[in-house]
Amino acid sequence: MTRVRLIVFDLDETLVHATEVPLAYPHAFQVGPYFVYVRPFAHELITFSSSHFDVAVWSSSSEAYVKAVTAELFGTTFPVTFSWAVSKCVQKVDAKSNGYVYIKDLRKVLKHGYAADEIIMIDDSPEKLQRQPARHLCLPAFTGDPADAELPRVIDRIKMMASLETQFRSSQTSP
Ligand SMILES: [Mg+2]
Repeated sequence: MTRVRLIVFDLDETLVHATEVPLAYPHAFQVGPYFVYVRPFAHELITFSSSHFDVAVWSSSSEAYVKAVTAELFGTTFPVTFSWAVSKCVQKVDAKSNGYVYIKDLRKVLKHGYAADEIIMIDDSPEKLQRQPARHLCLPAFTGDPADAELPRVIDRIKMMASLETQFRSSQTSP
């Protein structure tokens, strides 16, 4: 039985879009040289996820950036189990682009006491999760469109992936 316990969020193009060139509408906050735009419904997704599961952040950006964006999005209201930056990613040469790809290896999360099927990783980059495609909830990249409406769908997909647990819980609490 699948029992989802932990949601791991990517940041860039999943929950936020950061750019040094400001867009045509007001940014949510600034981190260093970056104007950061929060994806529509990100607050709803974080609120939903935090009320049902542990939440964490794993980004291939710098430590300082991840710390600042995590503080803005999650604050003290939604404490994260961990917020990991590029140093927790595995750097690998990408044969297609001849550049580097930063892989998020789920085995690092397993050391924190979660089983592989208890984790959902939400990320716009399939290549970063190539080692565990089954636990990957992949979504289209957010590049600042204020009309973006992907995240309510993500909430529905999490509900589906965790539905067995929900049924288990509700059968326990019903009289
Ligand atoms: Mg991303």
